[in-house]
Amino acid sequence: MESYKNLLHANKIWVDRHIKNDPSFFENLAKDHKPEFLWIGCSDSRVPAERITGTQPGELFVHRNIANMVVNTDVNMLSVLQFAVDFLKVNHIIVCGHYGCGGIQAAISHRRYGLLNKWLRNIKDVYRLHQAELENLSEHELTNRLAEFNVVEQVYNLAKTSIIQRAWHFEKRPLIHGWVYGLDTGLLKDIIMIGHETQLDPIYQFDFSDLKTGNPD
Ligand SMILES: [Zn+2]
Repeated sequence: MESYKNLLHANKIWVDRHIKNDPSFFENLAKDHKPEFLWIGCSDSRVPAERITGTQPGELFVHRNIANMVVNTDVNMLSVLQFAVDFLKVNHIIVCGHYGCGGIQAAISHRRYGLLNKWLRNIKDVYRLHQAELENLSEHELTNRLAEFNVVEQVYNLAKTSIIQRAWHFEKRPLIHGWVYGLDTGLLKDIIMIGHETQLDPIYQFDFSDLKTGNPD
């Protein structure tokens, strides 16, 4: 059987299994969309958000890109973020990186990757911020430590958006978590968690004193 047909076949088995346990499973799922979590993860196929967290359809709102980046000019990511925060009212955002990340390896390799160079530049900037702690590490250690620093920086990149700051100001949510997944262990490592009491560098703080509600601009 051609490989893509396996996917369609597996889908039918998956549907049958759910309906056997709960005949209304899909009807109920179709009625509402109220995930509690926004997941921003790497596109790597070995880090499937729902599988590694034991979550079911309807629980995670998911955005994935190369090396789980939060880039402040990325309209795709910002649209996902704003919808999740302002309309779905998620209580948690999880930025999940992983050890052995190909995007991070590519960013420190000096190789040219065409268009991808522009995306990887954002990771090189994270390296530069933490260069003193990274430059004497072996390549393996460097890749993994940079994956951790990268998650921390992307967590703070979320906090620098007016979307997050407005929700923190008016609704004291969401909490933002930074995790790193071990491809060879299957385990998630909790690296950082920040919330509405977080003090950002003043230059990044927006003034909301002219707003009476947290409604979107
Ligand atoms: Zn990756």
